[in-house]
Amino acid sequence: MLSDIEIAQKAEMKPIVEIGEKVGIAPENLENYGPYKAKVSLKFTNEVLSKPQGKLILVTAISPTPAGEGKTTTTVGLGQALSKLGKKTMICLREPSLGPCMGIKGGAAGGGYSQVVPMEDINLHFTGDLHAITAAHNLLAAMVDNHIQQGNELNIDPRRVVWNRVMDMNDRVLRHIVVGLGGHANGVPREGGFDITVASEVMAILCLADSIHDMKERFARIIVGYTYDNKPVTAGDIHAQGAMTALMKDALKPNLVQTLEHVPAFIHGGPFANIAHGCNSVLATRTALHLADYVVTEAGFGADLGAEKFLDIKCRFAGLKPDAAVLVATIRALKMNGGKAKNELTESDPEAVKRGLPNLLRHMHNLKKYGLPIVVALNMFPSDTEEEKKVAFEACKEAGVPVAESTVFADGGEGGLDLGEKVLAAIDQGSNYKPLYDLDLSLKEKIETIAKEIYGADGVAFDGAAAKELAHIEEMGYGKMPVCIAKTPVSFSDDPSKLGAPSGFTLHVREVKVSAGAGFVVALTGKIMTMPGLPRRPAAERIDVDDEGNITGLF
Ligand code: ADP
Ligand code: MG
Repeated sequence: MLSDIEIAQKAEMKPIVEIGEKVGIAPENLENYGPYKAKVSLKFTNEVLSKPQGKLILVTAISPTPAGEGKTTTTVGLGQALSKLGKKTMICLREPSLGPCMGIKGGAAGGGYSQVVPMEDINLHFTGDLHAITAAHNLLAAMVDNHIQQGNELNIDPRRVVWNRVMDMNDRVLRHIVVGLGGHANGVPREGGFDITVASEVMAILCLADSIHDMKERFARIIVGYTYDNKPVTAGDIHAQGAMTALMKDALKPNLVQTLEHVPAFIHGGPFANIAHGCNSVLATRTALHLADYVVTEAGFGADLGAEKFLDIKCRFAGLKPDAAVLVATIRALKMNGGKAKNELTESDPEAVKRGLPNLLRHMHNLKKYGLPIVVALNMFPSDTEEEKKVAFEACKEAGVPVAESTVFADGGEGGLDLGEKVLAAIDQGSNYKPLYDLDLSLKEKIETIAKEIYGADGVAFDGAAAKELAHIEEMGYGKMPVCIAKTPVSFSDDPSKLGAPSGFTLHVREVKVSAGAGFVVALTGKIMTMPGLPRRPAAERIDVDDEGNITGLF
C-alpha cells in the first residue's frame, strides 16, 4: 500500500467552492486560501444558527499506545461512510501542531484512504491559525514584561508571572529559562519558560469562544500573574485584549477542506488534550451541526481524557448534545494494554488481547455514565488475525455494545459502511447525555469525582501547594468552573507504566492553575509536561522537499 503522503498527493481534489456548496455555503461566504482551503465568514456562521441541528457523533478511543490508535483516521472514514450511505455529513477535526509533526507522531490528517487534504498544508502552516495564536500569546507576554520594566504600576511580583511564552515546536531547552538578562535596559530578570503553542490558553479560548466579542472578553480575563499581595493581574489590566483579538480575528473563522472522497471537513483549533480540553472549536462544530445532518468529530487521547473533557467541558459550555460515541480500539493497543511489548505486536496472541480487554471495558463503562449510546470500532491493521478479532468481538457482545470492523484506512468510506450503519442505529436509540459532575461541587470534589469515576482511583492526593492554590482559586471566585485534568494518556492512572485497567491507586495532583479566560481550572498530575521534546530520531530528519516543491517524508 502507498504511504499516507503518496495517497494524499495522488488525490484529485475538487475546488473548495464546490465542497462548500455541498453543505450550502455559498462562495461569497468563503474566504479562499488558494483553491483547496477556505475560511468561513463569521457573518455566515452566525446566520446558520437559525437552521435546525444535525446529530453529533464523538469519536474517541481506548488508552493510546505510542503509534496512535486511529481516531482521526476513523473520524474521516466514518464521515466518508455516512456520506456513502446517503447522509449529508460533515467532519470536524483539530488542527495539527508542527511540533509533534516534526517529532514522533508525524501528520495528524488521518491515514490511508481516510485522510483530509491537502495534507501537507494542513500539517504545516495551513491557514496560519497557529502562528496567529503564537503571536497573540507572545504579544501579551511582551506587554507583561514591558509593564514591569516601565515602573510596574500594577505591582506585579516578577516571581509570580504565570504567563509563559509559546512556540509551535518541541523544544525542551526552552522549558525553563531566565529572561531580562543584560542590565537595566534589557528588562527585569526573572525565571520564565516556553510551552508549545497548542498548550496556550489563547488556543483554548479560540476553541471555546463563539464570537469576536466573546473572544475579546475571554482574553481580558486571562490571569498573567499575581501581585506581591497575591491578587490576580489580568490581560485586561495590561490592556492587551484588543490587540490580541486583532491578531486573532481571522483565526477565529473555521477552516474548510475536504476528505479524499470530497466530504466537507472543518479543521479548526487544536488544544492540547491535557493542559486544555483537546477538542476542535465550538464555532466549527456548531456551524457544521447547522449545515449537515450528521457531524463526526474527535477528541484527543483516550476516552478518559479527550471524551471526558469533550463531554464535561466543551459540550456543557457550548450547549451541545452529543448523540453517540464511537470507541476506537485496535488489536495492537489491546495487546499492549495486555502487557505485550511494542516490538512483538505483529505476532498473533489472542491471550494478550484478552488481557487487554479490561481497558476497553472500562472505557465503555465510563462512556455509559454520560448517557450516550456507544459503538466500538475495531480499526484493523494488516497484522491482526481472525482469532484475535474474535476475542474483541465476543467481549463487546458480552458487554452488549455493538462492534464493527473498520477498514477505512485501507478502503476509505467503503470500509466503514458497517460501522456507519451501526452508528445510525445507535443514534436512533436516543441519547440521554448528561455531564459527569455538577459544577456546584468544590474543585476538590470535582477532581475526585473524575479520578474515582473515570480513572478508577481510590482517591486523590493533593500536594501542599496544590491544595493551597485550590483554596486561593475558590477565594478568587473561580470555584464553579469545570476542571481540566492533565494526565498521561497512556494509563488511567498518573503512572505511564500502569497499563490496562489499574485500580487501587492514588492520583497525585502536583499543581493547579486557573485558566480564567478559557473558563476551567487545570490540575496537573504526575509528570505531565507542557513543552514536549523531540525523540532521538525526529521525523524532521526524514522530511524533504524537491526542486519543484513536492514534499516527502511527512507521513
Ligand atoms: P490518532 O488520531 O488516534 O492519533 P491517527 O488516525 O492519526 O490516530 O493514526 C495514527 C497513525 O496510524 C497514522 O499514521 C495512520 O496513518 C496510522 N493508521 C491508522 N489506522 C491504521 C490502520 N488501520 N492501518 C495502518 N495504519 C493505520
Ligand atoms: Mg488524531
